[in-house]
Amino acid sequence: MSMNTATGFRSAELTHQLAKKIQESTTQPWHIMEICGGQTHAILQYGLDQLLPPEITLIHGPGCPVCVTSLEAIEYALQISRQPDVIFTSFGDMLRVPGARASLFNTRAEGADIRVVYSPLDAVKLARNTPDKQVVFFAIGFETTAPSIAASILHAEQNKVSNFSILPANVLVPPAMHAILRNPDNRVQAFLAAGHVCAVMGYWEYEPIAASYRVPIVVTGFEPADLLQGILMAVRQLEAGRCEVENAYPRAVAREGNPTAQRLINQVFEPVDRQWRGIGLIPLSGLGLRQRYQVFNALNRFPLAQEATEEPGLCIAGQVLRGVALPSQCPAFGRECTPASPLGAPMVSSEGACAAYYRYKRVIA
Ligand code: SF4
Repeated sequence: MSMNTATGFRSAELTHQLAKKIQESTTQPWHIMEICGGQTHAILQYGLDQLLPPEITLIHGPGCPVCVTSLEAIEYALQISRQPDVIFTSFGDMLRVPGARASLFNTRAEGADIRVVYSPLDAVKLARNTPDKQVVFFAIGFETTAPSIAASILHAEQNKVSNFSILPANVLVPPAMHAILRNPDNRVQAFLAAGHVCAVMGYWEYEPIAASYRVPIVVTGFEPADLLQGILMAVRQLEAGRCEVENAYPRAVAREGNPTAQRLINQVFEPVDRQWRGIGLIPLSGLGLRQRYQVFNALNRFPLAQEATEEPGLCIAGQVLRGVALPSQCPAFGRECTPASPLGAPMVSSEGACAAYYRYKRVIA
């Protein structure tokens, strides 16, 4: 069987072999968190959790960029998009995410010029083509989107595109892992680290986390065999009392990551404290523009009011994102809250855990 294609990593035979090895390796209960929402969707889509022995509990992590974008950032996005002569641009997933009072989608329906772009460079191009408008890009995501956002800032600077700016909201994975592990409610005993984040950042950043919290971390891909291989390596470490960073995704990830992408990020951004929706403030968990690039910060360009922001009372997205509750344990799941009428961000996003549970019919807690 060729392993050069995704098909090989979805092979039923390989999947069942790996599931058998996990069963043979497991002697006691373990809680393993997959950080990335894309991995949560793949686990549910392929029913991988149902192949695991009952001792293994998978905890779904906060790695859905749309879900953790703070209510404050969404409120600023709405205020900026309502300003005259502004074109507000965003990745498509963000449009339907409910803010405290409205979404970008509602605000567009009321007349704001809000457009979906597939890359921040498209927003720079739009700014060049519409010099009489201010074009703002909603800079959300983890380390995966940061290099292209940094490149768009450098491109705008080099080409003197002064009517382009970003609303900075990027977040970083390692500080979130610290926050999860320090939480008194924490149940996570091992992590599957997101392969695409590690393709950019490498996994050297995780080594001090594994050592200081004594928690195994396995860099893991997104196909069924990748995920089961990651779980197997995590279980073997847990059973042996080891706590190392291992790479189950070597075809895409090297320890050092992509140095060019990291240089781009570090040139334009610096770590800043950031609010995570449902989780709260995590120190140094966001990317803010360095002083030299503050001229591209939309927060400095527009008069903005700090509005009170509160989640709808029924939504327990914070507990879902911290891995403390399952989506199906939310009283609003599938009733007041569905993908057609979402109360919280995890029901909207293609990487949200609530949307995954709804789509793959995991209604039993
Ligand atoms: S099901 Fe809906 S209301 Fe419940 S936690 Fe998820 S997004 Fe919030």
